[in-house]
Amino acid sequence: MDIIVLKPSATEEDLRHIVKKLESRGLKANISKGTERIVIGVIGDTSKITEEEEDALRVMTGIEEVMRILKPYKLASRDFRAEDTVINVREKIIGGKKIHVIAGPCAVENKTMLMNIAEKVREAGASFIRGGAYKPRTSPYSFQGLGEEGLQYLAEAREKTGLPVVTEIMDPRDIEVILKYTDIVQIGARNMQNFRLLLEVGSCDKPVLLKRGLSATIKEWLMAAEYVMSRGNQQVILCERGIRTFETATRNTLDLSAVPVLKQLTHLPVVVDPSHGVGKWDLVAPMAKASVAAGADGLLIEVHTNPEEAMSDGEQSLKPGQFKKLMEELKLIAAAVGREI
Ligand code: PEP
Ligand code: MN
Repeated sequence: MDIIVLKPSATEEDLRHIVKKLESRGLKANISKGTERIVIGVIGDTSKITEEEEDALRVMTGIEEVMRILKPYKLASRDFRAEDTVINVREKIIGGKKIHVIAGPCAVENKTMLMNIAEKVREAGASFIRGGAYKPRTSPYSFQGLGEEGLQYLAEAREKTGLPVVTEIMDPRDIEVILKYTDIVQIGARNMQNFRLLLEVGSCDKPVLLKRGLSATIKEWLMAAEYVMSRGNQQVILCERGIRTFETATRNTLDLSAVPVLKQLTHLPVVVDPSHGVGKWDLVAPMAKASVAAGADGLLIEVHTNPEEAMSDGEQSLKPGQFKKLMEELKLIAAAVGREI
């Protein structure tokens, strides 16, 4: 909150009251009296004023409008840190010139399948292997993941291929076991506002891939990043994965405008997940290309050797051959926007 505009009807008494209120918060008022109305410039560290306090100010008599200049998120904001955040995961630099691709199955189903997929996506040029060991399923009767056994397979896949691991955490109680195996901790869309979980990963020293909530605004998403960062962990990667809209032709609506918007608002790297964004395998490639063109720092793509038999998200998974072809095509798009893949 930085600028307060008073109503034309505001009295000197209203003004004194408002100035006192600001001073009680350790702020100063710079009053400019125009012919029509009075405008107060608030001086001091206004980032300490919460949105609730700002809303409370709005009800004071004499106030017409309270305009915030500083963002409610601070650590995540570009105003706070102008240069791009670059995250180094086992020598893979996220947020630099190279666009990194995180690929793998939705869920780790068994060892053979994971090893096979990991080998194939590495050959095609992926930088990370992904797979869920703890799955957030809509139905409690659907496959819920292999738990620690799945994490072990991911670690074995890393050993075999050299690809660092990305996997999802659903519960703060699993943090220890997940950190034992993973290189990047994923917070899924359904948990973007699970604040206890955000604080938990905020205290760890591994990068966090923070997916956008199903119906989250960009501001709410950045506030979720702020939760993680407020605990000390500055290594947050944002992942656009589609939002709920009225459209039913695709699983979600992939909001690619979020990429340039985020580039303006935050210094954090931005990854796009077209797989969950569209939900259909044949729409993944065009949206992956569009993501690179829009300025994404990375992609998350679901790949399965046998999508027909997949235990989750088979409909949106690429086969290794299709993934390889896409990786080739992406090189051209990346070069056109001054990046590498
Ligand atoms: C996933 O990455 O498999 C997943 C569950 O994603 P989201 O949280 O975006 O739905
Ligand atoms: Mn999935």
